[in-house]
Amino acid sequence: MFPAGLTMGAAMRRSSLAGRLSFAAATRMAFRRVPVPPGRGFLSLSFDDIPLSAWTEGGPILSRHGLRASYYLSGDLCGKVFENREQYRQDDIADIIAAGHEIGSHLFHHVSTLTLSPNQMRREIALNDAFLKQAVGQDFMARSFAYPYGEISVAAKWLCNRRFLASRSVMPGLNSNGADAGQLRILPIDNIFAAETDIGAGIAAAARDGAWAILLAHGVDNTGHAFSCPPSRLEAVIERAMAAGLEILPVAEVMDRLTSSRS
Ligand SMILES: [Zn+2]
Repeated sequence: MFPAGLTMGAAMRRSSLAGRLSFAAATRMAFRRVPVPPGRGFLSLSFDDIPLSAWTEGGPILSRHGLRASYYLSGDLCGKVFENREQYRQDDIADIIAAGHEIGSHLFHHVSTLTLSPNQMRREIALNDAFLKQAVGQDFMARSFAYPYGEISVAAKWLCNRRFLASRSVMPGLNSNGADAGQLRILPIDNIFAAETDIGAGIAAAARDGAWAILLAHGVDNTGHAFSCPPSRLEAVIERAMAAGLEILPVAEVMDRLTSSRS
């Protein structure tokens, strides 16, 4: 959930040497690459966890612009308080889907994959799949994934590659031709990264180079929470991306486009 440095660094320090080695190896191996056609830029908006404001405040902004986003959800957080704030409620899940947004998986429990055995990882994916089937319908299967805390083990990457069309990391950057679909990069728009991230430059580069920019936020509110994006910032980046001519779609739908445009 966090780009390098700050909180992710703390989480990495808590993990074992084996975990750190697994992360280093996992991020160096690519099982599936993104065939981004040159000369065409995409933008995806993604929200992790999901704090209630990402839906109650973020949803109307998206709707006003006619946009659909990707919401990455951990079933265990439903109706709970996490990181000192209320998370999405059971009824929100159907509303998010009904509005045309993508719901992706963020594991059932919001845990680092570096702490899970391969069997535990399989179980976390399966538990979240079962949670979403119960919430949305038996036919529902999340199509993309986001690693909790952005922490990626070799086994997790392998399993997610088999189960999902694409997986999103928290590593900053754009997804250009040949990018790793098992650890898509992001541009963070939460408060904690506002000072160090030039979103305007990222959007301009995506449009210029025909790359895929994926924005990552958690809450959408004016609380000043480290992992929130003020509504005004979300509005501004959306308007900038639209003005730059980026095509704005959920993560799984960009993958569909890129895959079909290759054939
Ligand atoms: Zn998260």
